[in-house]
Amino acid sequence: MVTENLKIVEEKIAKACERAKRDRSEVTLIAVSKTKPEVMIEEAYAAGQRDFGENKVQEICRKKELLPEDIRWHMIGHLQRNKVHQVVNKACLIHSVDSLRLAETISHEAEKKEIKVPVLVEVNVAQEESKFGVTTEETISLVEEIAKLPHIQVRGLMTIAPFVEDPEENRGIFRKLKQLSVDIAAKNINNVNMSVLSMGMTNDYEVAIEEGATMVRVGTGIFGERDYTK
Ligand SMILES: *Cc1c(COP(=O)(O)O)cnc(C)c1O
Repeated sequence: MVTENLKIVEEKIAKACERAKRDRSEVTLIAVSKTKPEVMIEEAYAAGQRDFGENKVQEICRKKELLPEDIRWHMIGHLQRNKVHQVVNKACLIHSVDSLRLAETISHEAEKKEIKVPVLVEVNVAQEESKFGVTTEETISLVEEIAKLPHIQVRGLMTIAPFVEDPEENRGIFRKLKQLSVDIAAKNINNVNMSVLSMGMTNDYEVAIEEGATMVRVGTGIFGERDYTK
């Protein structure tokens, strides 16, 4: 099932790139494997998939131990400061930085390990109360503050759009995040670049690609519905 689903998602990504006159290589597919067993990840790996997304530190740590070394693990979930030390050297990119305090902790833990950690700033573009992330208004000043920290590098922005029936409803949100990244890039802040735009999930990744996503995070569309009852 996973192999077939990946093929379908890949075709849709390619078509969205074509519509947007973008090169397929500009978009990275992150297979969101949270709650899913290692066997399913192995199947995706065998089909060539290398970027996987998880939202829990414990789960990244466990799966990283058990699965091939060349998998790139993306931390896409809300990150607690007391768990940062476990994940800074395991995730290739932390998508969910939403406060200066969290960024400071990441930089501090990265310093201990003598590494630099690439991160995205999570923006709650839709201003949903249930979601993490800073407002669009707060984003530039947060990026400027994080830029001063020595062991962390801002590489772009991430957003989680609302769940909607019609993905067209989220087009405006994706467009806003893109515009924000263009505005920030124009400021030429030292230690900051805006090469990554992480937006779009199973329901709306094609629209996100049309609006400039460079990373799409697809879970259900690859691995099927998640079961949280266990
Ligand atoms: C779970 C999750 C996804 C994947 O959602 P699907 O709708 O299953 O594709 C993407 N991004 C984040 C941050 C998530 O937590």
